Amino acid sequence: MFNQDQSILSIKGVGEKIATPFFKKNINTIDDLITYLPISYIHYRPNELIDNSNVSVNGTVISELKEYRPRRTLTVTNFQISNGEFNIKVVAWNMPYLSKVYSLGNQVEILGKYDQSKNTITLKKITKIEDKLNEDDKLIAVYSKINNQSNYKINKLVNLGIEQANISTNDRQMLTELHNPTSFNNLKQASQQFKRIEFSAYYLKIKSLQKNALPNDNYCLKVSESQLETWIEELPFTLTDAQLRAVRLGVDSLEKDIPMQALILGDVGAGKTVVSLLYVQIANINQRQSTFLLPTEILANQVYQVVTTLFPHIKAELLTSATKKSSKKLIKSLVETGSCKLLIGTHAILEEDVVFKDLSLVIIDEQHRFGVNQRQTLVTKGKYVNYCYLSATPIPRTIAHTLYGVLDIIEINQKPKDRLPIKTKVYSPNQKNKMLSLIEDQLANGHQVFIITPLAYEVEDMNLADSYTIFKNFSKKYEGKYQVGMINGQINSEQKNKIMRLFANKHYDILVATTVVEVGVDIPGASAIVILNAERFGLATLHQLRGRVGRNNIQSYCLLLDESSNSESKQRLKLMEEIDNGSELALRDYQMRGMGELTGVRQSGSENFILFNLQNDQDIAQTVIDELSIIED
Ligand code: ADP
Ligand code: MG
Repeated sequence: MFNQDQSILSIKGVGEKIATPFFKKNINTIDDLITYLPISYIHYRPNELIDNSNVSVNGTVISELKEYRPRRTLTVTNFQISNGEFNIKVVAWNMPYLSKVYSLGNQVEILGKYDQSKNTITLKKITKIEDKLNEDDKLIAVYSKINNQSNYKINKLVNLGIEQANISTNDRQMLTELHNPTSFNNLKQASQQFKRIEFSAYYLKIKSLQKNALPNDNYCLKVSESQLETWIEELPFTLTDAQLRAVRLGVDSLEKDIPMQALILGDVGAGKTVVSLLYVQIANINQRQSTFLLPTEILANQVYQVVTTLFPHIKAELLTSATKKSSKKLIKSLVETGSCKLLIGTHAILEEDVVFKDLSLVIIDEQHRFGVNQRQTLVTKGKYVNYCYLSATPIPRTIAHTLYGVLDIIEINQKPKDRLPIKTKVYSPNQKNKMLSLIEDQLANGHQVFIITPLAYEVEDMNLADSYTIFKNFSKKYEGKYQVGMINGQINSEQKNKIMRLFANKHYDILVATTVVEVGVDIPGASAIVILNAERFGLATLHQLRGRVGRNNIQSYCLLLDESSNSESKQRLKLMEEIDNGSELALRDYQMRGMGELTGVRQSGSENFILFNLQNDQDIAQTVIDELSIIED
């Protein structure tokens, strides 16, 4: 993003030992390091002593600072403070400098985690009161874990990186703010600026790739009316009117002598995949090849299964990074000779040695997860290619046109009829047991349950549920009764597939997961999805997650545990109970988000952007498009 391609080893004081854990996280260059944005910020509350939460207190040091060295590598400093009303013990780990800087009688402000039973604050940060922080200054960055590096250490290294990077003053200020916020407002501004930079770069790259194709008969893919009707009748279900319309629009577009550039927009479960597979059928009877690109192996596997059951006569192959070397070779030769008519897969399809004989149609699911460079690679795979993107993210036409170069937007705004609406309920922490008993009812009835956590593993200082801890607890709790599985983005893809397969085959009753199961996964046996720390997710994401259940005719549930104590969040989550429409939820979420919302938080799941989010930042996208298109003209 900032063209700082020198290795982090070039930072003064950084050697192999410090750098190795960062390398393992794919942080190789200074650019990688300075854009390794926090996953969150902890806001320290002033003078409110809530048990087990992060607090800030002003007071006077009323004891000497006592220092212990229980081990050679560990120092512990203890002292007491008083704010005039009460005394509190403070304990500091590995801050040996404290006793040199602070002493009895100092006026201080301290930030840390409060433990009521011991009346102790575990110190995070201390300042003398004369350098007192502003009311909303008390924000500290939290990073996704890097081996055994503390947040403090990561932050320190990032700051060194920013210092030594060869970047403009503006960029330096912005990055410094994102890693060391001075106030909510400044943080928000910095994150908006970061998003603008990200999106501008993306936009310019996209524009440089788009060119207008000349008409050519090789773009035409034709089908007879009677043939189409037969296919539709042969499906095991009746297509909805919206699906029929989408098929019709697609047929019209494929028949033309210019390339199809379509975006099928439809809520989760609306049945986009089936529609796009009918396009594939059309290519197939024209003796031409298609490819279906998906963001994850799990989804690729799933589409492959759908094709083999619904359209067994299409010669389809599956190619992912998990495909065995020997099979890979065979599949590639089948694609090259043209006997494979549909290649389904992940990024593996983009590899250079995947050569199509006669590619005519590319379907891309959840397109925004694929980067511009990958799209560029695709362009080289065929001479006369039609494109169809599938997405559940509602975006305005102007943005769609720019991002996808889309000519046709095909909406599927209706769900298959036989679906029972999913019952959604928000629970507060003291209703946890009620929620648990509902889950147990589902399990007792032989249904499966998803449990979603915001974190994969525990993160220092964050009171957030993580998959691993929940997995451990539930495994123990239900030992001998129910099988529990776990999946997250850090598990390798082969293993991930295996776990999903085991869940689909009902080997597991409970699957504890992060949002890796967000898009498109189809587990018909699952009747409930439980989302812990639901307040941490956007409504659009929650809605996507909810779409993981209710894919059959049994009553399904979406249970949201709201662990926040603020009423705004409660109100927001309540919308999930009332609204069952992705676009409307996205809009309401957008309108409700106030100034207090933490911004500048790193996204997960999108490979294109760090902060920018197509769903939430449409105003930024629009501004950038407007500005840059003026310059172009
Ligand atoms: P999307 O990709 O839009 O989220 P899918 O195409 O994966 O949705 O469809 C979700 C599920 O619904 C699949 O199991 C699919 O086979 C099924 N399905 C699709 N269309 C219909 C329909 N008209 N009636 C019943 N089931 C359908
Ligand atoms: Mg889908």
